[in-house]
Amino acid sequence: MPQSRRRFLMTAAATAGAVGLSPRLVTAQAAKDSFDTSAGPILISPVSHASFVMETPAGVIYADPVGEPSAYGSLPPADLIMVTHEHGDHFNAETLAALVGDNTTLITNPSVFDKLPEDLKSKATAIANGESTSFGSVGLDAIPAYNTTAERLNFHPQGRDNGYVLTFGDFRVYVSGDTEDTPEMRALEGINLAFLCMNLPFTMDAEAAASAVQEFRPAVVYPYHYRGRDGGTQDPQKFAELVGDASEVKMGNWYG
Ligand code: ZN
Ligand code: ZN
Repeated sequence: MPQSRRRFLMTAAATAGAVGLSPRLVTAQAAKDSFDTSAGPILISPVSHASFVMETPAGVIYADPVGEPSAYGSLPPADLIMVTHEHGDHFNAETLAALVGDNTTLITNPSVFDKLPEDLKSKATAIANGESTSFGSVGLDAIPAYNTTAERLNFHPQGRDNGYVLTFGDFRVYVSGDTEDTPEMRALEGINLAFLCMNLPFTMDAEAAASAVQEFRPAVVYPYHYRGRDGGTQDPQKFAELVGDASEVKMGNWYG
């Protein structure tokens, strides 16, 4: 366990003792991690695997929401939903239909846009690798997400799928989508918060993910999307050890 994580746990336990809370209550309160930005705090709620919610000064942003809509029932409704790519652990048209309200905007890659039903298409904007758009005051850049290992190329062919960098004032969040440690990821600069996938055979292993982190050095990184089939699960603790001091590794409750 990295020192920063150990310090956080010790601080949380000390706080619980000081105010008479049980450790269980502290765990519940810590379910939303908060990050300070010049525009105000961003709250993070992991939902499952690749799905999470960010409550931001610019609105509530859902990333790759799939699964039962009730899983989002305790969270505020989405102002923006962004979808990285068409695989079922990232895109489900029925889940989207249940979560999209009158004032919800969708941002997707072009391939998902083509698969949307017409009523959702009318709320959606497609951006391709390398393109940018905005949502209110938030800038969004589509970062290429693809496999680079020969026997994995068919999972995420280059040019189709997106990661995203969202810019809130001076605070930049990177959502990897499904990808290996591409040159584009390694070249990212000024990332305050990153969500980084790892599993095999579909994306990359913990070693490759940690190697990329040592190069682009996000201030904080959540390993996510780390369970796989047939032994392809990657260990987020091992990832944290490999990252070392290059970044603060945060653990989310992705598979609770
Ligand atoms: Zn995928
Ligand atoms: Zn996936």
